[in-house]
Amino acid sequence: MTSEKTLLVIEDEVAILRFLRPSLEKEGWRMWEAATGRAGIDLAAAKKPDAILLDLGLPDGDGLDVLKNLRQWTSAPILIISARGQEKDKIAGLDAGADDYLTKPFGVAELLARLRVSLRHQENRPESAPLYEREGLKIDLAARHVWLKKKEIHLSPQQYDLLAVLVRHAGRVVTHKQLLKEAWGEDRVVTPESVRIFVHQLRHKIEPDPVRPRCLKTEPGVGYRLSSPEE
Ligand code: CA
Repeated sequence: MTSEKTLLVIEDEVAILRFLRPSLEKEGWRMWEAATGRAGIDLAAAKKPDAILLDLGLPDGDGLDVLKNLRQWTSAPILIISARGQEKDKIAGLDAGADDYLTKPFGVAELLARLRVSLRHQENRPESAPLYEREGLKIDLAARHVWLKKKEIHLSPQQYDLLAVLVRHAGRVVTHKQLLKEAWGEDRVVTPESVRIFVHQLRHKIEPDPVRPRCLKTEPGVGYRLSSPEE
């Protein structure tokens, strides 16, 4: 490890902390703990961690309020870890500015992978990598060209705009609301249902087998995730 990455875990469950610490430290992370939202916010401000894991059920209040506070002043990736696995909870967290969401119980390997994606994504801000390549799919955002197995694909402007948003967030969940807002702006009348149709059309163009998509994955009830090139 050339430089140690730092992580703040805002979580009141001792068992989770005990489970996380050895794996994170083994991967070269330095980990700080806060057992309440208030302590978490204070520690985040004092230590400026590279990334934050946030539990939603905290003894002094709702983790969503902590998230909203943090998002007002830090751009560090924030990953929610929560027992609340319902779609509406995930959407609320992602819309409030979380970078990703893991439902408990989760595997530490998955957590580490998501952390890497979030950090890479953050390092790439605001200038994200213009080139995406995975499973024979190649997207050049700078040139606005898309190829599948070296053959150029023609997309409608809406299909392209939707894909470009997913490429910019590659490896992370994008909620329906985020997609609508980033692809077409607030004022355009595009419903989640039409997003579903655009995704369906896109899959037929960019996936060798649209029924079993390898790149453009559905997060049921929440949104979509374009697999990161390294997955
Ligand atoms: Ca808790």
